[in-house]
Parts: sequence; C-alpha cells; structure tokens
Amino acid sequence: MPCVSVRGHDRALASLRSSAQSGRLPHAFLFVGPEGIGKRTFALTLAQSLLCERNAEGLLEPCGECPGCVQVEAGSHPDLIVTGRPDDKQELPIRVIRDLCAEFGLKPARGVRKVAVVDDVDTMNDEAANAFLKTLEEPPPGAVLILIGTSAEQQLETIVSRCQVVRFDPLPVDELAGLLLEKGIAADADDAAKLAALAEGSVSRAIGLADPDLDRYRRDLIDGLAGERGFDPAEQVQQLLAFSKKAGKETGAQRRRASLMVGELARLFRGVLWQTAGLEPPSADPADRRAIAVLAQRLEPEDVFILADRALEADFHLARNLYMPLVLESLFHDVAKVVNPKARA
Ligand SMILES: [Zn+2]
Repeated sequence: MPCVSVRGHDRALASLRSSAQSGRLPHAFLFVGPEGIGKRTFALTLAQSLLCERNAEGLLEPCGECPGCVQVEAGSHPDLIVTGRPDDKQELPIRVIRDLCAEFGLKPARGVRKVAVVDDVDTMNDEAANAFLKTLEEPPPGAVLILIGTSAEQQLETIVSRCQVVRFDPLPVDELAGLLLEKGIAADADDAAKLAALAEGSVSRAIGLADPDLDRYRRDLIDGLAGERGFDPAEQVQQLLAFSKKAGKETGAQRRRASLMVGELARLFRGVLWQTAGLEPPSADPADRRAIAVLAQRLEPEDVFILADRALEADFHLARNLYMPLVLESLFHDVAKVVNPKARA
C-alpha cells in the first residue's frame, strides 16, 4: 500500500501527520531543501492522500485504489493542479500564478477539495508573488497549497509568513544507496555506494550520474583538468554543449545535463580545497582522488576557492535559464586561467 513516507523524510512526515491528526493541517506549505531529494514526490503523495476518497485525512496515507488516488497517479485528477516555471522561462511568471488562482477558486469537481503543487517558487518574481498573496492568505475551504523551493531565505517574507515551512534534508548516503539498488538504478552494492556518495543525498543527481555516457564524460573532463596537456576552454565549451545536446531535444534536459557536470566541477574544486587543508577529500572515487591530489599540489587555495564559487554561480545561472553557451564560456575561461600550466609559468 502506498504511503506518504518518502525514504529519508520521516521527520517531515511525522510533523505533518501530527498536524493532520489534530485537525490542524495548514492550508499552505512551503517545502524547502536541496534539489533532487524527493520534495516533489513527497508533495504529490501528500496531495494524493488529501484527495483520497477512502482513507481518513488524519492518516495521511492514500489507499492507492479509489478513483481519486488512481486519477492523481495518472496525472488526471481534476482537483489537483501541478504547476511551476515553464522550461523556457527564467522566472515563474505571473500568468502561471493567475491561472492557478483562477482555477483554484472553482468548486472541486470531485467534491472533496482542491490541491495545488507549485514548483520552482525560488524563481517567483515580486509581481507573481503579489498576485498569489490573496489565495495564499484565504484559500477556498479545505483547499491546500504546496509550494516547493530550495530555501525559505530565497522567498519573500510575505510568502513565507503565510506558509508552514517544512524542511527536507539530503538523503543519508546509505538510504540513498539502498534506494538506488531497489529501483535498479545501480547495478550492484558497490555501484550504489559510489553513486550515492557522488550524489550527495540527491536522487535526481544520482539518476543523472548513473548514465554511463555521463560517467565517461565526467572522467575525461576531470582527468583533463589534472593532465599536463592544458585545458582549452573553447574546445571544452563545444564538447559540453555537444554532450548536453545528446540528452535530447528538450532544452530542460540539456540544461540539466550541463548543470550536472558543472556541479561535478564544483565538487572537484571543493575536494581540492579539503586536500590542501590537510583533510581527507570527501570523494570516494580513486581516480577523482588522484586528480584532486595533482590539482592540490599545483594550484593556490585562493584560486581553487574562486573556481568552486564560480562553478556554483554558473550552476545557479543554468538553473535560471541564462543562455547556456555564455554561462559555460565564462566559467571555462576562468577555469583555464587558473589550471593551465602556461598561465602559471
Ligand atoms: Zn484513495
């Protein structure tokens, strides 16, 4: 039987369940935590439990079999609105919020309640947030809004103050490894442990990194940085753009692939910083550790710190839909300035 429990998020569940059992389930939630750790899955299962026509609300446990549950599962429930930032936009536009509020005001079609899941609220601009306030303040009776973002600090105070904030932690490495094995994403226990360590608690990151093409590309990029041949930024931009395009026609998928690699660069530079500080680098991969040791020998910690920061910034820009070639050119240009032997001579 399906249950609201999403692996590793028992704490979040316990807090919701105690509110539900006492009949004080808030009408607006803000789910916050790192990308890819299951907030959206949790939100959808919570929505299913709220629209379940068989199990009592306080249980927060969808039966999985009633018409309401089946329609949520199929993505066709008339009273569940799932929305977010369109793939081709940098912000969550006011149009999306206006449509949501209009639909939310209608009578529930199946007679229970309306539930809305709004993703990417980090990117909601002031105009959209203002359009949202009235619905957030006074939703129709029984209706529940679930907003998803990465941190409460990134939201306007007017939004946060109207929501119950629920924090989600990254999954512990062993939980994530178990999940990857169970879902067949990892081939065996070793593979699962390696992926889970690389993914730093993020399921979506682990799924991305499990792709063998990506693993090869990642290896070449990291070994190239630590190699003696030098790092050609223009060539690397072309390679990463070409590699990202192989993720498919959809620009969102291409962007996610580029973002995974930029995230890997950030992690590599963090590892180098650990090593120069005399600490054990967090990466378990032996080839990564060799590259980290070489770079730690070769580079100044101040420069590595800047690169780690630049990689995070580039990742942020990719997430905000900035023009991908420009973001990568600017990042790789800075990387080359620091890592190339010629530049250091
Ligand atoms: Zn049900």
